[in-house]
Amino acid sequence: MTSIPTPAPVIRMQGIKREYRMGGRHAKGDDAIVVRALRGLDFSAGAGEFVSVMGPSGSGKSTLMNILGCLDKPSAGTYTLDGIETSESDSDTFAYIRNRKIGFVFQSFNLLARTTALENVELPMFYRRREKGVKPYGTRERRERARAALREVGLEKRMDHYPSQLSGGQQQRVAIARAIVNDPAFILADEPTGNLDSQMSLEIMGLFQQLNRRGKTIVMVTHEPEFAAYTKRIITLRDGTLVSDVEGEGRDAGRELARWKSDNSLLADGKIPGVPPEGGA
Ligand code: ADP
Ligand code: MG
Repeated sequence: MTSIPTPAPVIRMQGIKREYRMGGRHAKGDDAIVVRALRGLDFSAGAGEFVSVMGPSGSGKSTLMNILGCLDKPSAGTYTLDGIETSESDSDTFAYIRNRKIGFVFQSFNLLARTTALENVELPMFYRRREKGVKPYGTRERRERARAALREVGLEKRMDHYPSQLSGGQQQRVAIARAIVNDPAFILADEPTGNLDSQMSLEIMGLFQQLNRRGKTIVMVTHEPEFAAYTKRIITLRDGTLVSDVEGEGRDAGRELARWKSDNSLLADGKIPGVPPEGGA
């Protein structure tokens, strides 16, 4: 009898703990204060998921982000990313995983200011040179891949612009293009709409939904239930433990953006009944 193998999850965390020891390196016994930021967390996500991580301030979201992003190691527990057991990795492997398996998107975009959109997106591909057994991309291939990523986020007409010549929403698109250019196992986004106004936030959520429909796996930390509603699954942390794991509303950001725009143009035109046109008598 043959059985269909279940695909390995992209993210598999078991019994993850992270403790911060305060009071200095030599503090012992009563002098040492241990902050238990994560207290034995189990979390798995498969390919194609779109998960938001919520929870009040101090609940452990950033700590979890850092571990998910291979910026930090847990004090206990195991974390397997795309089949690689990260807790046993040396720092080179850790750096390799960060560069190749994870696409980071930050609240503050983190683009290089004196560098065009295209060059910003090319950047993660330079690190391939330093990896053993990996054929580096040639100049042309790098450029082609960066162009394709910028087309995917709808910025084909802005490739030669510098970040200062782009709106916040456009800068975040560049950052998303940079995050997907190495074809990572998942995108890790930290409050990606935190610095954006309502319209730009909806555009970015719509873009994430588009990428997710094309198969990209996304984990997004957010404070706002409003944005979590666009994802397919919501996990909530409290005091370092996972207190709920529910299906998201999966609201359609593209549709809401269209409605938002038409409401605003109606308002601007003074066509909403009962609302006098601006400057009208
Ligand atoms: P959140 O991102 O949800 O606000 P954090 O992961 O930043 O939560 O913090 C979880 C807990 O761990 C908090 O009590 C915080 O004070 C503590 N903590 C976070 N980072 C450190 C650190 N570097 N040293 C000591 N305690 C920390
Ligand atoms: Mg935080």
